[in-house]
Amino acid sequence: MASASDIMPEIRTENNVVHIAENAEPENATAKELREARDTAKKAQKKAEELAQLSLYDPSPLIRFDIDHRKLLYVNPAAFNRYSDIFQKGVDHPLLADITEIALRAFSQRRTVTREVAVGSITYQQSITPNLLGDERIVTLYNHDITRLKQTEEVLRQETERAEAASRAKSDFLANVSHELRTPMNGVLGMASLLRDSALDTEQRELVDVIVQSGESLMLLLNDVLDLSKIEANELTLEQIPFSLVAMMADVVRLFEPSARQKKLDFSFFYSAVAPECLVGDPARIRQIVTNLVGNALKFTEQGGVKIDISSRRRDDGKVDMIFRVEDTGIGIEEKNINRIFSKFTQADNSTTRKYGGTGLGLTICKLLTEAMDGALGVESRVGKGSCFWFSLPLSVADAEQTRRLSAENTDKANVLDGNDFSPYRILIVDDHPINLFFARKLLMKMGFKSIDTVEDGRMALEKSAAEKYDLIILDCQMPGMDGYDVSRAIRAREDGSGTRIPIVAMTANAMIGDREKCVAAGMDDYVSKPITMPRMLEVLMKWLKAGGGGALKPLAAATAVAASPAPVDLAHLRDYIGDDEEEKQIVVSMFMSGAEEVLALMEASMVTVDNESWKKAAHKLKGSAANFGARTLQVLCGQAEQDAEADAATKQDLIRRVALACEDVRRFMGS
Ligand code: ADP
Repeated sequence: MASASDIMPEIRTENNVVHIAENAEPENATAKELREARDTAKKAQKKAEELAQLSLYDPSPLIRFDIDHRKLLYVNPAAFNRYSDIFQKGVDHPLLADITEIALRAFSQRRTVTREVAVGSITYQQSITPNLLGDERIVTLYNHDITRLKQTEEVLRQETERAEAASRAKSDFLANVSHELRTPMNGVLGMASLLRDSALDTEQRELVDVIVQSGESLMLLLNDVLDLSKIEANELTLEQIPFSLVAMMADVVRLFEPSARQKKLDFSFFYSAVAPECLVGDPARIRQIVTNLVGNALKFTEQGGVKIDISSRRRDDGKVDMIFRVEDTGIGIEEKNINRIFSKFTQADNSTTRKYGGTGLGLTICKLLTEAMDGALGVESRVGKGSCFWFSLPLSVADAEQTRRLSAENTDKANVLDGNDFSPYRILIVDDHPINLFFARKLLMKMGFKSIDTVEDGRMALEKSAAEKYDLIILDCQMPGMDGYDVSRAIRAREDGSGTRIPIVAMTANAMIGDREKCVAAGMDDYVSKPITMPRMLEVLMKWLKAGGGGALKPLAAATAVAASPAPVDLAHLRDYIGDDEEEKQIVVSMFMSGAEEVLALMEASMVTVDNESWKKAAHKLKGSAANFGARTLQVLCGQAEQDAEADAATKQDLIRRVALACEDVRRFMGS
């Protein structure tokens, strides 16, 4: 192999023009190498000539400099016109500052290096190109005037800084103001509540009601604004604590169940059997996001239902992606409005506020919160069909000790009732104040009651108690319109002669002398005074429910179908099939999984080609192997997919998603 010096032709530079000796052929160079070297050199010469031509007209200063002799070889007219002293100053001219050092760098790296130089008020971007042909170390300095660019950049930088400072100041201000507003609002609300419970005539009561309702709306808004400004001012601190997601979700479901029931909507909750139950993160913030999405779903749905679906996906970093989906069959969102709804104070369209209320801050906060937790949030929606809001969060799985502690805490809660199972009893709570209803409900939920209805006024209480069979009624005494005493009297009058007597427990505002007598006179059995405490409530309920015998046992309302899916794979079946050989099991699992992936790809492809027949075949194939494998859920899903071969694209997309999730569940379950 010939060395570089062997094959290079002789190159000379004269008057800034490179000359290449045509017949400087070393004897041992191969013809091909020689030809290539010559071509390269010729190209370089052409470039140099073009550059020399160009430099005559180029308005940017161009200089050629010999670093070994530290002398200027050439300056173009632009350089000379601007800097007539350049020959005189030589390396002392600002354009040539530190030129030797930089030129040597360009030579050693065999490439153009760039820097910025200032000459008076002008800033140049200077590129220093080494001439790599020949022995002389010559560099070409091309100077591009970037003064205006620099000025614009500086103005932009200052403007950005000013805007950021203003935005920070605004967020700080908002955070402070909303915080400061909450304190007096608490006072207003507290006093208004007390006022409401005092002796008032109907008109006064209505006025106080308006104060309380407006105050509560204002508090919600203030909380949202406070959250948003905290996030924007970077003051959000996220917790990292172990928590039970299952328990939290069960709580959320319970919270919304009454409104779902009131709207006669199906309300279901699925938690993948292979998803971890206990995780590490910020439960309050996660709950806030879920609550917001579920609240919206129920708000914007009039028919059909809302489904919450939680699953998980393994990540490479040891964490899991928890995937939350809230699907509704509500009004949906127009494509063009999808992006708007995540902006502050914006709703899908302007009629939303009139019809549904709201501030347009909820989703913005949800999105910012998920992003702050390194997650993502999105929505798929079709007008008139419904929406699916989803978010995913990377979370660590709680370790064994944390999980043990959390489940012990939950068991303790359950044991409070000394083994009493209140779940079969049906309770009606009547209170005109939603917050009171909420707390009373929560308390009963904690005790283990599962079937609790709530209504907000006396007349509805009468209707509801006539229509449904309850084991006990908890009744607020002071209510606008028909108060608790009236309701109790009406119920007793209705029962007269029927041989039944439903226990009625009064809730009174203050433990005032004479309260008890008043309650008993109105036909009530007992009373609890606010604030209601767990021991007192327990005492009263135990007494009256036992007496009532809990005869009216009813199954749980269908609305709370909390379904834990069965294990993804029937291991006993699999064992019958392949025995106990671990290695063989792994082979079968990996064969099964790659087959499943293939089928999923086929199903997807069949949607593109709108080929229902191949969809059907693919689903059928996976159904068969899932059955053999003992993957029951997957088998059922594939059976459904097979039947739904003619379904619309959305249904099929959903089926694919569910099949994929079921496959993922199988994979995780089998630990591969
Ligand atoms: P708001 O307090 O107004 O509900 P959000 O930020 O929570 O504020 O929601 C913004 C807007 O997004 C809503 O006003 C509504 O137009 C739309 N939206 C949110 N969730 C749904 C849903 N599940 N179905 C239809 N529209 C929705």
